[in-house]
Formats: sequence, structure tokens, C-alpha cells
Amino acid sequence: MSKVVIFLGPAGAGKGTQAKRLAKELNMVQLSTGDMLRDHMARGTELGQQIKAIQNSGQLVSDDIVVALIRDKLSVMDDVRVIFDGFPRTVTQAQALDMLLEELSAPISSVPVLDVPEDILRLRLTKRAEIEKRADDTPQGIEKRLELYRKETSALIPYYEPRGHLYRIDGLGAPEEVYARLKAVI
Ligand code: ADP
Repeated sequence: MSKVVIFLGPAGAGKGTQAKRLAKELNMVQLSTGDMLRDHMARGTELGQQIKAIQNSGQLVSDDIVVALIRDKLSVMDDVRVIFDGFPRTVTQAQALDMLLEELSAPISSVPVLDVPEDILRLRLTKRAEIEKRADDTPQGIEKRLELYRKETSALIPYYEPRGHLYRIDGLGAPEEVYARLKAVI
């Protein structure tokens, strides 16, 4: 049976960590546009070369590109059991996703939002920069992503809220604590 979960929350909120665990437990596929784009960069594909400067500076890659990546992934699935992590990031992307899901008759099951204050996000992302050496985890890249979340992606909360299934989850504390809160509402 189809199931669609959309994780919302700023960079460093823990979407990837929680989405990965939930996907495993619920037998779902985690789709992270950030991971897909990094994979293209690592493989040096044409798309990877095209987006490198954009992604490294923390800017958003164009809606057309990420929507096409998601469309390709969904089109080969028999049963849509997907956790979106880092997509959609704009209202345009959310509208495109609505259309894709409608075509597939796969309604959105829940939209968890991970809430973490910005000062904590900065600390987490700075720490991650030391460990993972991600090209966009520079001070400027971090600020840009936080700003884009505030200005652009947070508009998805009022977009999804009227439909129900939007749950705000306190993202502070250890990953297991956050996971327990998530499981309690999902
Ligand atoms: P984080 O949530 O930590 O910022 P992600 O791994 O989700 O990291 O994304 C990293 C970068 O990939 C973003 O800063 C952006 O450049 C690009 N990106 C990922 N998803 C999208 C998207 N849905 N729309 C536009 N750009 C995206």
C-alpha cells in the first residue's frame, strides 16, 4: 500500500537521520534530493558539473532539475512508499509533487516538521563540517541555507497545514529521543 511522508525542517534539523531510520523500519524508500545531487557531483555527471557551484554556495538548485530527479525515481516504483527528505523546498516544488502524487494515486500520509532553534542548528552544522567535510558546510553556506529555509521553505508549513497530517516535532535532544517523538505521532 502506498505511503508518503514529507520531512520538513531546516538544514541540520536531523531530517536525514530520522528519515533513514523510519524508512528502514517502515519498509519505505528515502528520497533525499541533497544526496542525489551530491551523488551527481561525486560521479562528475553533466548535471553534477552544472550544479556544483550552486550547491556548494548553499543556493537552491532549480526547481526543474530537482523535480525531474524525483519524477524519474517515482516513475519506476510499483508501490510508492517514500519518505521525502529535503524535497520539496519551494512552493513550486510542492505543487509539482502534488501533481506527480495525484497521477500515481499516492496521497500524502504525514508531514513531520522538525523544529530546532537556529543557534543550535549552527552548532550542529559547524560540527558536521569538521567530520563530513561537506563542501556546503562553510559558514557562508550554512547561513545561506538557514536563510533560504526561513524565506522560502518555511512557506510549506502553511501550504500543508490546512490539509491536516502536519506534525511539529521537537528536534532537540538525542536522535533516539527525537525518533520516539516522531513515532508517537506518525
Ligand atoms: P541541508 O538540508 O543540510 O541543507 P541537503 O543535503 O538537503 O542539505 O541539500 C544540500 C543542497 O542541495 C542544498 O543547499 C541545495 O543546494 C541542494 N538541494 C537539495 N534539495 C534541493 C531542492 N529540493 N531544491 C533545490 N535545491 C536543493
